[in-house]
Amino acid sequence: MYVCGPTVYDVPHIGHGRFALVFDVLRRYLEFSGYEVDHVSNITDIDDKIIRRSNDEACSASAIASRYETVWWDAMDALGVLRPTAVPHATEFVEQMVGMIEELVQAGVAYETSDGVYLAVDKVPGYGLLAHQSLDSLRSGARVEPGEEKRSPLDFVLWKKAKPGEPTWPSPWGEGRPGWHTECVVMSLGLLGEGFDIHGGAVDLVFPHHENERAQAVALGRSFATHWVHNGWVMMGGEKMSKSLGNFTSLTDMLERTDARAYRLLVLRSHYRSPIEVTPQTVADAEEGLARLDALARRFALGSHPDPSVPAVRAGAVEAGIDAGAVERFRVRMDDDLDTPGALAEIFDLLRQANSAADAGDEETGYRLARTVAALCAALGLDLHGDQEMADDRAQALVAKRDAARAARRFDEADELRRELEVLGWIVEDTPGGTRLHRRSGSG
Ligand SMILES: [Zn+2]
Repeated sequence: MYVCGPTVYDVPHIGHGRFALVFDVLRRYLEFSGYEVDHVSNITDIDDKIIRRSNDEACSASAIASRYETVWWDAMDALGVLRPTAVPHATEFVEQMVGMIEELVQAGVAYETSDGVYLAVDKVPGYGLLAHQSLDSLRSGARVEPGEEKRSPLDFVLWKKAKPGEPTWPSPWGEGRPGWHTECVVMSLGLLGEGFDIHGGAVDLVFPHHENERAQAVALGRSFATHWVHNGWVMMGGEKMSKSLGNFTSLTDMLERTDARAYRLLVLRSHYRSPIEVTPQTVADAEEGLARLDALARRFALGSHPDPSVPAVRAGAVEAGIDAGAVERFRVRMDDDLDTPGALAEIFDLLRQANSAADAGDEETGYRLARTVAALCAALGLDLHGDQEMADDRAQALVAKRDAARAARRFDEADELRRELEVLGWIVEDTPGGTRLHRRSGSG
């Protein structure tokens, strides 16, 4: 699996968080199903935006890239995203990229201009297949800008000839640097080989990035990815999230305010191809769902992950103490194009059954179902926090937030926080000294 990674010139936004979570869950589920996964995800460490920022800050492009790559991995670790099995950096593959561009020139599908080397897309059979658009419809509206030497508006740059003040590499066309579309086709084919299984990324990469990656492989007669997986937009207040719209929210900021596991749950509540809405309400809903899961883990004293008492479900092998029928229902949902909303519905159904069984005095059934919930959550990368100390820390943090909200007369927020505490199993009392908590009997 090759997943297009970030261009490291700024802090990641919450849309990056979604794609990272979607492909993390896909990878975990493939492993759960018994596959060994080579998960390659690149770092684009040379690009116009990196160069612009390095000029603004009067430092090197590599200093910018390494600074923001560190921020990227910190955010990924906080999200609980597994590190890819290989992380190629574009600047390590420039020689191979030059080699592929030479092949494309020799094959007569690429041509040199005064500012670079371009691919002639009308020489590529099936160009537009991935975008589901004909060459004509892609061409309409596109035009060659004045001063450009491209033969057709859709032709794209493979090699950019050096401009003053830019990092450069040698090539048969003089000093310069590779175009973005060439990076990914070279690194994916180079590390995974022809006909690799899955190429992924966010939906905004379908065109032109993935179409253009594919075009280079097709032009050289190489078989490229056999499956494409694209995750949908992150919407905020009905608008696509993007930096240019100004509704850009940094992932790092979000993770400071929200439990990272709640964002994972929020993402999984929608199908990966659908858009998701990230609003205070959808975040609060996800936090509430997470609190119910944690409360279940506490009730059955499952402890925090990795809890050796929770048997792993791996390679489809169901260990004793797990409800095999529930695991099968989960698998049917996930096998259906990664239907995570359906899989979560199964999990929350099990959660209700576990609580009802225990309420009715059948602790044994309750325990078996609760362990199944924890095992299936772990398969999705969602670790439950069952230990009391952690729960108490969380409750105390909510109390502090609630007292601050009440002092500032933000009563809606205070009510929200009350509900959150109640879901965690607390009785909330308002006293002159602030919020006081009592443990509700029976819920552990
Ligand atoms: Zn890419």
